[in-house]
Amino acid sequence: MTDIFAKHAGLRAAYEGLTASSPRNPFEVVIERPLSATVGIIEGRETLLFGTNNYLGLSQSHRAAEAAIDTARTMGVGTTGSRIANGTFGLHRALEEKLARFFGKKHCMVFSTGYQANLGTISALVNKDDVLLLDADSHASIYDGAKLSGAQVIRFRHNDPVDLERRLGRLKDHTGAKLIIAEGIYSMTGNVAPLTEFTAIAKRHGAYILADEAHSFGVLGATGRGVAEMQGCESEIDFIVGTFSKSLGTVGGYCVTDHDGVDLMRLCSRPYMFTASLPPEIIAATMAALEEMEERPELRIKLQENAERLHSGLKAAGLATGEHVSPVVAVTLETVEEAIIFWNALLENGVYVNLSLPPATPDNRPLLRCSVMAAHSSEEIDKAVAVFGAIAKQLGH
Ligand code: PMP
Repeated sequence: MTDIFAKHAGLRAAYEGLTASSPRNPFEVVIERPLSATVGIIEGRETLLFGTNNYLGLSQSHRAAEAAIDTARTMGVGTTGSRIANGTFGLHRALEEKLARFFGKKHCMVFSTGYQANLGTISALVNKDDVLLLDADSHASIYDGAKLSGAQVIRFRHNDPVDLERRLGRLKDHTGAKLIIAEGIYSMTGNVAPLTEFTAIAKRHGAYILADEAHSFGVLGATGRGVAEMQGCESEIDFIVGTFSKSLGTVGGYCVTDHDGVDLMRLCSRPYMFTASLPPEIIAATMAALEEMEERPELRIKLQENAERLHSGLKAAGLATGEHVSPVVAVTLETVEEAIIFWNALLENGVYVNLSLPPATPDNRPLLRCSVMAAHSSEEIDKAVAVFGAIAKQLGH
């Protein structure tokens, strides 16, 4: 009998090496209980949470929780079916209409996760006759959507309009459709995409463009519609994809567009058709969180102030942070060994961040990925910075 797990030998060796060199397993951190948006119990201790995607703190929204409880009581806890079979409630339609209105787009499709929103949108839009131009640092859901679509994939250098244009220039005789995909804010580094430049290139080369605003929805732009809103190019973006699992603190994903073809997409998008739709209480919580986000623009202002405070604090402590100031602040270290020691020391001193290791990191160097929330107080940020600074000093930075 062939060992079905033999293919994991390389992964197992890497995993065992990593867990042997770390006092705790970085893949098995348990938040035993969140006490608030910014503090959770980890290993029995109160720990500052600086490694979530809960940018506006809305996972702890009282209003969203009440909406979920009321809806579960009146409508039950699940739909038991997919959107095109028996799983569309009035609430799904209401959420789609609300999001379409929010983005000022004609159509919206809601998916059961953000991951599926990328899978379901990309695979329904392109096939083997088409070409996808993907930013090299694209999220796994974009790469997986590309694989599911069967389209030819061309990667361009991260955030590099010149490289994108050069690659499109080589496709002059290509007869299929061309779709460029970029993110708004990149989840590991906090880098912001030059979407306006990308839309100009798309226009010059007859390509469509899709922006995944998973980390920028609710975060950037005057009303929280993301990088496209901030850069003033929303009308030039063909498809905007995003998630409810970050700024809105719930779960689910969406695609908004002005293209009328979206109605047939509902019938050819397998990640939309062949999975259960979002439970009604999640939709109710998501709508309540969206309303809260719209009514409290001060959350976005505070978030930006907090991002600047964390970014400048870590920089002043002598740490290598990225060039863009966004709620994702990545500290780059040189070696995996040091990253493991640093990350463990942070947790032992009451600060939780994400340990991101190569090959999952953009330039194959380890990152301590921090994220900030509107809900963090200045004191919490200063405390995290002080802990970072003390450990950096001990490690000879
Ligand atoms: N796109 C990007 C850029 C992401 O970072 C993520 C989540 N990390 C997703 C899509 C998937 O979203 P979800 O976790 O809500 O499925």
